[in-house]
Amino acid sequence: MIKLEHIYKYYDTGGTRLNVLDDISFSIDAGEFVAIMGPSGSGKSTLINLLGFIDRNFEGDYLFNGHEIANFEDEELSVIRNRSVGFVFQNFSLIEILTVAENVELPLLYNGAKHNETQKKVAEALARVGLADKLNQLPKQLSGGQQQRVAIARALINQPSFIIADEPTGALDTHTTEEIMQLFKQLNDEGVTIILVTHDPETVVYCDRLLKIRDGKMIEEVLQS
Ligand code: ADP
Ligand code: MG
Repeated sequence: MIKLEHIYKYYDTGGTRLNVLDDISFSIDAGEFVAIMGPSGSGKSTLINLLGFIDRNFEGDYLFNGHEIANFEDEELSVIRNRSVGFVFQNFSLIEILTVAENVELPLLYNGAKHNETQKKVAEALARVGLADKLNQLPKQLSGGQQQRVAIARALINQPSFIIADEPTGALDTHTTEEIMQLFKQLNDEGVTIILVTHDPETVVYCDRLLKIRDGKMIEEVLQS
C-alpha cells in the first residue's frame, strides 16, 4: 500500500538547511500495525506528515497503491488524503463546543455529506470504540481515554485506508494506555492498517513491526513476535 524509496526532507531555517529525513526507505502493507519509535526531534512527525499527504515537499519516491504521489495535483492529493487517512494525536484535537457526535461527524460534512445522511455512520463509529452512550456529551465531560476514543472514531469515520496515530497515548496513564492500545489492536484485527508513533516501549508489543529512527535515519526494523 505504502512504499517510500530514498526519502530526503530538508527544512530551511534562516539560511541553514536542516536535513530531517535522510534516505528513508520502507513499505507498509494493508492490514499491518507498524510502530515508529525514535527520540524527540528524530523526524517522526515530519515522516508521518509526509505519509499522511500533508507535506509533499520532499525528495524521493512515495508510491501509494502503486501511484507516485508526486504526479498528483494538490487538489487530487487532498481528496486522496480525506478519503485515505485518519489522524489521531496526543492532545485528541477535539472541538470543545461540539458534542461527541458532532466531532465525529465533521469529516463526513467536510467531504460533502448532509447531516441526515451521517447519523447512522456516526453512531456505528462511536459504538465501535465503546462510546455508544456518549453521543450528546461534550468532550470536557469525558475522561482522557474516552476523548481519545472519540478522536479514534472520528479518524475511522471515512473508512480510511490507514490510520496515523502520533503519540496517541502520550497524555494517558498506564491503564488507559493499555485500553487504547487494545482498541487499536481490535481495530487492526478487523483490518484497519495502523501506523503508530510512540515513545512508550509498552505500546510497541501490540504492533507487528517496529521501525526505529534516529537523526532522520532508519536505524533498525524489528519484527514483533
Ligand atoms: P519528532 O516528531 O521525532 O520529535 P520532528 O519531525 O517534529 O521530530 O522534528 C525533526 C527535526 O526537524 C527537529 O530538529 C525539529 O526541530 C525540526 N523541525 C520540525 N518541523 C520544522 C519546521 N516546520 N521548520 C524547521 N524545522 C523543523
Ligand atoms: Mg513529534
